[in-house]
Amino acid sequence: MMVFSTPDDMRHASAEWRAAGEQLCLVPTMGAIHDGHLALVTAAKKAAKRVVVSIYVNPTQFAAGEDFDSYPRNFRADQQKIEAAGGVDAIYAPQAMYRDQHATHIVPSGVALPMEGESRPHFFTGVATIVFKLFQHVPADYAVFGEKDFQQLAVLRQMVGDLNLPISLIGHPTVRETDGLALSSRNHYLSAEQRAIAPLLYQTLGKSAAEILAGGDIQQSLDEAKSHLLAGGFTKIDYLDLRDATNLAPSLTAKADDRLFVAAWLGETRLIDNCAIGSHPARSR
Ligand code: AMP
Repeated sequence: MMVFSTPDDMRHASAEWRAAGEQLCLVPTMGAIHDGHLALVTAAKKAAKRVVVSIYVNPTQFAAGEDFDSYPRNFRADQQKIEAAGGVDAIYAPQAMYRDQHATHIVPSGVALPMEGESRPHFFTGVATIVFKLFQHVPADYAVFGEKDFQQLAVLRQMVGDLNLPISLIGHPTVRETDGLALSSRNHYLSAEQRAIAPLLYQTLGKSAAEILAGGDIQQSLDEAKSHLLAGGFTKIDYLDLRDATNLAPSLTAKADDRLFVAAWLGETRLIDNCAIGSHPARSR
């Protein structure tokens, strides 16, 4: 696997592939590679002949006091995991993506405003700006993103459409532990006790999905789900919403592809998850 660390080297390799008529798929990550990331890589290989995984912990999507400094970084281990899963054509691991005088940002509105946009107002500007920059360095035909971060995928689809970017985005379903917990680099932060509580997040989404699909009152179900999480050991809930999957507007009459979205804290660790109410395994129980 080639490793590139500058935009020029990355662009040069991409241009050679494109000149040979080969399509290119990008998988952007912040490293701490796990099986969720590797599933995106497998999807990328199906989409295009050439695959690039980018690894960059993007400072502009962390606010002061968030976990930028403690975010897990281990390039060698990441490289080995990708290699063991069959490898990719290149890893793009830029050292720095922002020059000192950087002053240009992409500030998404629309689907970026609720939920994460309210809890972490800096976040989607950081995400959209870095992904736009990555798309300039890796001029790919496709990029794969996880539905684990469903709102992020919606924000990026909105950016690609609004700015007419010549790239197709592929969404990949969330990869979970056998107990339902969504794989996440931030799961490393959980103590053994917190890790035992964490699956309650997805279980609770399932309970709510089943109630809402059965015609239960949406607000009552959401309120009960929040209480259930707090009673079960979660320490704070940023949001727990039912929303339309396309425009992320609050859903007042439940449709099977409407999604439940949650962000909740276990001590210092913030976990997010989401699912379509019609696809949670608990829906028919
Ligand atoms: P991150 O490194 O956490 O920024 O994630 C990089 C990409 O992997 C994003 O598109 C995420 O949505 C995706 N991803 C992270 N965790 C999972 C998961 N458990 N299942 C599927 N995709 C994931």
